[in-house]
Amino acid sequence: MRVVDEKAIDGKFPAVGETIDVLVVGAGDAGCQAAREAAAGGASVVLADENPLDPALMGLDVPLAFGGRMDGAVQNRERMTERLVLARPALAEAYEAGIDVRLGTTIWGIFPESAESRALAGLTVGLEDGRRCWMARARRVVLATGARDLMLGFAGCDRPGVIGARALDALLHRYQAFAGRRLLVLGSGSEGLRVAIAAHRAGVTVAGIVEPGAQAEGPAELVAEVAELGLALLTRYVLVEAAGNAEGVTSARLAALDDEGRVLAGGEREVGCDTICLAIAAVPAIELAAAAGAALRFEGTLGGHVPVLDEAGRTSVGGLEMVGAAAGVPADHPAAPDAWPYPERWLAALIASGGLEVPCCRCESVTRADVLGVRPPAYLEARSGPIAARDLGRLLADGPPNQDQVKRLTRSGMGECQGRRCREQTALLLARGAGVAPGRIPLASYRAPVRPLPLALLADDAETEAMRAGWDAWFGIPTQWTPWWDIGTERDGLGRDAGLGDTWHL
Ligand SMILES: Cc1cc2nc3c(=O)[nH]c(=O)nc-3n(C[C@H](O)[C@H](O)[C@H](O)COP(=O)(O)OP(=O)(O)OC[C@H]3O[C@@H](n4cnc5c(N)ncnc54)[C@H](O)[C@@H]3O)c2cc1C
Repeated sequence: MRVVDEKAIDGKFPAVGETIDVLVVGAGDAGCQAAREAAAGGASVVLADENPLDPALMGLDVPLAFGGRMDGAVQNRERMTERLVLARPALAEAYEAGIDVRLGTTIWGIFPESAESRALAGLTVGLEDGRRCWMARARRVVLATGARDLMLGFAGCDRPGVIGARALDALLHRYQAFAGRRLLVLGSGSEGLRVAIAAHRAGVTVAGIVEPGAQAEGPAELVAEVAELGLALLTRYVLVEAAGNAEGVTSARLAALDDEGRVLAGGEREVGCDTICLAIAAVPAIELAAAAGAALRFEGTLGGHVPVLDEAGRTSVGGLEMVGAAAGVPADHPAAPDAWPYPERWLAALIASGGLEVPCCRCESVTRADVLGVRPPAYLEARSGPIAARDLGRLLADGPPNQDQVKRLTRSGMGECQGRRCREQTALLLARGAGVAPGRIPLASYRAPVRPLPLALLADDAETEAMRAGWDAWFGIPTQWTPWWDIGTERDGLGRDAGLGDTWHL
């Protein structure tokens, strides 16, 4: 007798709306070049980029830390598209080369055929363009998704005006929509020096470049350029607080540091500025590759976790390739593979100046002390009993530090920015607390959708009755539908006893 598992997923996938030969994700320099090369080789190519971004997402610091410093122009999609095309002549060239260029189109997930999902053929891709959400099948996908900024916490880091270097660069050059006038840059590596020079050239006053070390981190030619332009390099300083009001940052309070990195008493100074730019490190945008299950490795000199690639740029997932900054952003100096010296130096300096009671995860109000104390944020009011007794030391007694576990226990990284502002900071803190190199902290999982998707768009995706019937069981954890307050009580499993099967909801 043939037995059919009614809850099997086979044959119940969302309909595939289109078939793409080569899909290039990200239309920066690397993506435009990859698209042109694929088209020159005779392939039919789709080049998709999420820009112009939805201003509501920009307000959530997705995908870059815009810090609320966009001017009103970002509300006008047509104007933003025009500026984007003007800023990137390679886009027009791609159109002319017959490439199907899709702006305002986000790839939110890539689902490869695997041992667990043999029913998927090749690479299934989730797309969204603000009006609809659909699935496509692609023969080859090239990820040219760029990088985002490493964000670290300090008092006042949640004020409007705290921005990332790549976000500032995008507002200045891609959109011409930067609303600030006076800028303080944190970090004197290539990233910091370049963004300071670029902002100065764009007419923004650069109030200073802050560096905790004794000298600039970046290359001599950029340091010389900064000096020529008369931009102030504030070595042996660190930020204490972004001071301001409801409108945002109005000044930065800095502390002087001694040769050992300790705060010098009486060495404080105040710098007037409306924007504080974190330009400490760029982090490769690996989320799609990670969520698709591509093999990754930690390489601090490339910006943290990067894909494992062969000489042709292929990841471990068949048909999936990576190019440009997404594959790694070279650091200014060599280091051991599992170290990440410049961010580590910055975190140490910020802890010296601001202590532990400052935000780490801003979305969930988790402080550095909460992460190291492995406790949920204060607003949950759940810190008594065993939770109060918990700390990183106790957790480490059970095994090596695990960021996914710490995320569940502290909520650090669970917020609406999808961990973009705290993911690396949490890992750096765990490494510091555990006394291991940052590369020893396993990467916290990424999951699709890698961008917040409006439910209205997802809800439009037709879900068949056959899909709905098996939905809960596909997760394989029936008890997830038991409310936590019933777990371990006589009510645990009541639904099953009541004949509701494994799929009961409360
Ligand atoms: C201020 C500043 C100055 C710099 N100056 C120099 C310089 O002088 N020389 C130099 O070599 N480098 C410089 N760099 C670095 C350089 O800008 C980057 O290395 C380069 O932009 C990386 O190109 P890319 O194509 O890999 O990524 P990007 O240009 O970042 O493009 C990636 C694109 O992919 C899009 N994207 C990401 N994920 C998705 C998704 N899921 N769906 C759809 N779209 C997505 C992004 O929005 C973005 O548009 C500078 C950087 C900064 C910040």
